[in-house]
Amino acid sequence: VSAHWQREGKRAAAAAEPAPAVRLAPPLGQGVLLAAWVARARALRLPHAVVVEGARGSGKTTVLQWLAAALLCPSELDTEGPCGVCRTCLRVAADLHPDLHVITRAQDEDDHKQEKKSFYVLKVGQIRAAQDRLTRSPVEGRARVLVIADADTMEEEAQNALLKTLEEPGRDTFLLLEAARPEQLLPTVRSRVQRLRVLPLADAVLAEEIRRRIAPPPQRLEAAVALAAGSLGLGLLAGTERVVQLHDLVRAVLATTQGLRPVATARAVLAGADERRHELEQARTFLWLLRAELRAQGYGLAASAAGSYPAPQTEPWTSWLELTLAAERDLDLLIPPEQVLTACLVGFVARGLG
Ligand SMILES: [Zn+2]
Repeated sequence: VSAHWQREGKRAAAAAEPAPAVRLAPPLGQGVLLAAWVARARALRLPHAVVVEGARGSGKTTVLQWLAAALLCPSELDTEGPCGVCRTCLRVAADLHPDLHVITRAQDEDDHKQEKKSFYVLKVGQIRAAQDRLTRSPVEGRARVLVIADADTMEEEAQNALLKTLEEPGRDTFLLLEAARPEQLLPTVRSRVQRLRVLPLADAVLAEEIRRRIAPPPQRLEAAVALAAGSLGLGLLAGTERVVQLHDLVRAVLATTQGLRPVATARAVLAGADERRHELEQARTFLWLLRAELRAQGYGLAASAAGSYPAPQTEPWTSWLELTLAAERDLDLLIPPEQVLTACLVGFVARGLG
């Protein structure tokens, strides 16, 4: 009976306040540089606005959460970093802390409809709403933290609205911005934020971490580490079945540009995506794999050019590389993924090896 009661009690408590399932994870392989920023955050001496920069999947979110927890964690024993285990730290990890405000793009159709968020840009209304919340006192006293995920996707009006907070952030208020492409931020914004770069991980660290988390077969692990180029997020992605399929498509494209059917291939890339954001993810992943493969082959040609034979075929590879970069920019400009991929592949055929 008492065991049953305990179970029920736990269940009731869980219903009242869901126990955060996510743990706060320290960032990997960032060394003394990040440690210095974190120590400043513990002492509430962090600059009032910091932009965390790094490639896709490089661990920017982990760094942001660690900094946010360092600002908010009340533990007096841990001066070098957040304690990682207290209620505050766990709520930061689960994005449930009342003094932590996070602005994101729409994550699913519900966000899209009910909150009127966009899948592509951060809107001015989101910035204004967050500024409103920042005018209230911290609920638990230590600090107020505003995290802007994908801050480089803020529409111009949103960036202009944010300037007010960047100029007068208020006492113990900290803005943590995340950006893969900080050059998309307006100069007026950039000049008011301090930059923190996430360092790429060494291949050995990357291999160990991918093995620990998803244990792929050895040859897939090796391929994942090569594709990841120092980014754990990309390495974990590269180990998934869907990416292996997309990678096969990339190899097929490069093997048969003469017989390539652009529309059919674009559709194959997007197959199985039931939402626009999934289409976008798959298109981005395909272009990333294509670029990685072109780079690898381009390097191969450069290596053979170093021998006694010239490499007359270097040109198509570089112009294909340009096509994939242009396609990635087109996706950012909200052009539909199928159209972007088709145009890119048509370009491949037009500039093929003939
Ligand atoms: Zn803590």
